[in-house]
Amino acid sequence: MQPINKIYSQLTDPKKIVITMHQKPDGDAMGSTLGLYHFLIQLGHKAVVISPTNWADFLNWMPGVKEVVDYEQRTAAADALIAEADWIFCLDFNILSRTKRMESKLANAAAQRILIDHHQEPESDKFAYGNSDTGKSSTSEMVYDFIEASGYDDKINTAVAECLYTGVMTDTGSFRFPSTTASVHAMVANLKSKGLEHSKVHEHIYDNFLENRFRFIGNVLLNRMEVFYEYNTALISIPQNDLIKFNITTGDTEGLVNYPLSIKGIKLAAIIIDRGEERKSSFRSKDGFDVNTFARKYFNGGGHFNASGGQNKEPLEEVVAKFIKAMKENRDQLSNYQF
Ligand code: 5GP
Ligand code: MN
Repeated sequence: MQPINKIYSQLTDPKKIVITMHQKPDGDAMGSTLGLYHFLIQLGHKAVVISPTNWADFLNWMPGVKEVVDYEQRTAAADALIAEADWIFCLDFNILSRTKRMESKLANAAAQRILIDHHQEPESDKFAYGNSDTGKSSTSEMVYDFIEASGYDDKINTAVAECLYTGVMTDTGSFRFPSTTASVHAMVANLKSKGLEHSKVHEHIYDNFLENRFRFIGNVLLNRMEVFYEYNTALISIPQNDLIKFNITTGDTEGLVNYPLSIKGIKLAAIIIDRGEERKSSFRSKDGFDVNTFARKYFNGGGHFNASGGQNKEPLEEVVAKFIKAMKENRDQLSNYQF
């Protein structure tokens, strides 16, 4: 993988460009891809955003989201776009398997694949060019850096600004996590100067709950959370029946894993959700506990030092038992916590 600055000189030649992201895209995946899209179309490129799967309703206000191709819904059309592309930008993931059923099409495409991502351990040999930086708050911040470094600050319009702000806001927990550097705030200051209405973005993302989701969260916190004070750990496990009962859809469980981190002393928070086809887990940590390694070791997953996820095929009770065993194995690291 060569440095991404090598493509700057080609940005003025119109190209067919596919921009894609990980399955079940979050705010950063959708924000970074759409932000890049709104930038590239201004340079005369024919660009399209493809998502491997559907996404949460709370992203549906985003500029350009109506044109995003859902691979599962429009597979043939998406395959044709991938086959014809000159460039394929891969954003907010770094191993092709995170695109699920798109994986083989991406791997076999004639296009040059270009990576922009902030996760650990990229499959670098799969990309012609790229920027992989785990020090970055979000892929959206990296897209902003890409636009700035290529000399096109003037192309940051309100659409670009709203999309990139969405990604950086969601991935930093609204500018709360340690990944929120001075350069993140400098970026936001520049986006504001371009006309960004940040409170509007915040409302779209966070004040869009339906009643069922709110009541579901109430039930989760009351009945589905276990706190292991000895280990400074909290675990939420959600049976599939709850999802059915409360009519929970894609995105409704996003962010839930963060709630237990607000309990005094909690250093590791985990959620395991029985989605039927698999048991999806998410891990969040504070302080020095490495949940990327934890997810890789026990849950077929990965991610970042303080935020990771995975999935298992075993029944929910077995995955929960696996978590408790893993927690106990990491006792030394988890219990020696000074407040
Ligand atoms: P989430 O818990 O929100 O699904 O994911 C947290 C972080 O871990 C995200 O940055 C996401 O990309 C990463 N992640 C989640 N699940 C997986 C997985 O199964 N494999 C890998 N490599 N990363 C994951
Ligand atoms: Mn991200």
